[in-house]
Amino acid sequence: MSEYISEPGGQARIVARADVVVVGGGPAGTAAALAAAREGAKTVLLERFPYLGGLASGGMVLVLDDMTNGSEITVTGLCQELVERMARLGLAVFPPAADRRVAEDMWRKWSRWGVHDFHSQSKPQPITYAVAFDPDGWKRCSLDLIRERKVELRLQSWFSRTLVKDGRACGVVCETKAGREAVLAEMVIDATGDLDVAASAGAPFAHGSYILTTVFRLGGVDTEAAERFQYEHPARHAELDRACKKIMGGSWDMWWLKTPLPGVVWCNCPHMAGYDGIKVEDLTRAEVEGRRRIYALLDHLRSTPMPGFERCHVIDVAPQTGVRQTRLLEGEYVVSKEDVVERVHFADSVARGRDYYTPYRALLPRGVDNLLVAGRHYSATSQAQKISREIPPCMAMGEAAGIAATMALSSGVAPRAVEVGALQRRIRAHGGDPGDRPSANAKTLPAAAE
Ligand SMILES: Cc1cc2nc3c(=O)[nH]c(=O)nc-3n(C[C@H](O)[C@H](O)[C@H](O)COP(=O)(O)OP(=O)(O)OC[C@H]3O[C@@H](n4cnc5c(N)ncnc54)[C@H](O)[C@@H]3O)c2cc1C
Repeated sequence: MSEYISEPGGQARIVARADVVVVGGGPAGTAAALAAAREGAKTVLLERFPYLGGLASGGMVLVLDDMTNGSEITVTGLCQELVERMARLGLAVFPPAADRRVAEDMWRKWSRWGVHDFHSQSKPQPITYAVAFDPDGWKRCSLDLIRERKVELRLQSWFSRTLVKDGRACGVVCETKAGREAVLAEMVIDATGDLDVAASAGAPFAHGSYILTTVFRLGGVDTEAAERFQYEHPARHAELDRACKKIMGGSWDMWWLKTPLPGVVWCNCPHMAGYDGIKVEDLTRAEVEGRRRIYALLDHLRSTPMPGFERCHVIDVAPQTGVRQTRLLEGEYVVSKEDVVERVHFADSVARGRDYYTPYRALLPRGVDNLLVAGRHYSATSQAQKISREIPPCMAMGEAAGIAATMALSSGVAPRAVEVGALQRRIRAHGGDPGDRPSANAKTLPAAAE
């Protein structure tokens, strides 16, 4: 006999009761669900699309970066577990340690994989530890992990409302083809990237924005010929390359990068400014405009052939629009640009990125209990999030949030009362790096200044 809860606008069928419900199966949410289940919590993971990975797979963001400070790997744990799995299938590529240096030959060998340190001012930029991967490989390995850890996965479930009682989150409601469904839980983790759950629960947030991108892939590319042309005819290459970028109207320096699939390149462009990533009208306009530019590029490559691209074709435009920033939590601590740039170390650090640290307080909403957030909507200013939201740190936040939720449950306290030292030790015990030990280049503040 089905049970229902009454909802504004109708009833919702209770489809699961869990210790922890995670909303959003992107990098942060998948890591959060895996970490919670690993601690023995009955965990439900909800995702609106029929696959896992969020922007990493559906957005076809195909390079993992921001996980080394040059001398050490700063994001370990579940992120590395996923990388190892994809690499074993030949679906992830990264430079071996010996190749990670500044040298012209290394630049030629690796830069078209997008694994150089683009923060560096040196020429050529150093080759660093970063990982080019295949989007379907991400989906496959995430699903394998979710199945092995016995997370209850519910795809095709579009979160619509947070259930809050006495100031505590206690579940969520989703819209599905079968009608409204409720998942009741002791702890809720918002990993939607757009802060849907915390915003619905009434947590304070800011509305940020950044460029949008309609990422796409081209097949039938002779990448060897393209690279040969680039280095043997630099002037002509620069001219043709400039024309392509002009049509895109917004791209990084290299508008195409190699992928683990032969002859397939990913194009992290065209970038477009002035759109709001949660407004239907803007998302529709961006998709239409992005595709227009992509097809214009293809027409151009047909009429003005560029070596290597003579027989190229569009394989796919990413099913998810490349939205980088929308709502941002205004949590117990708001990370500033200075915190990121100056590598400020926090005593309650639970995750690391390139060379910056994320305090546990940045995962905690104000005013609502039993709710944590993880991922690109974490508590940071817009400027700070732009330089600290890459996939690996989002996964590290997810791992921390998943463990913290189970620790709150087992000690019968709200997440904000979890003992951070114990949380850091637990993250380390599983191979993660919470950033509790500042590296030599970190800026440590007196405790009172945090
Ligand atoms: C174009 C582009 C290029 C980028 N380049 C890089 C790069 O080179 N390297 C890098 O590391 N990072 C890059 N990033 C950043 C990175 O992709 C994101 O910051 C990262 O994926 C954030 O992970 P997340 O899990 O927080 O959010 P997301 O990846 O956005 O995942 C959120 C998940 O929640 C689900 N969801 C959302 N709303 C709901 C709802 N209402 N109900 C149910 N499910 C929901 C989504 O479907 C998705 O699966 C780039 C981003 C973009 C857009």
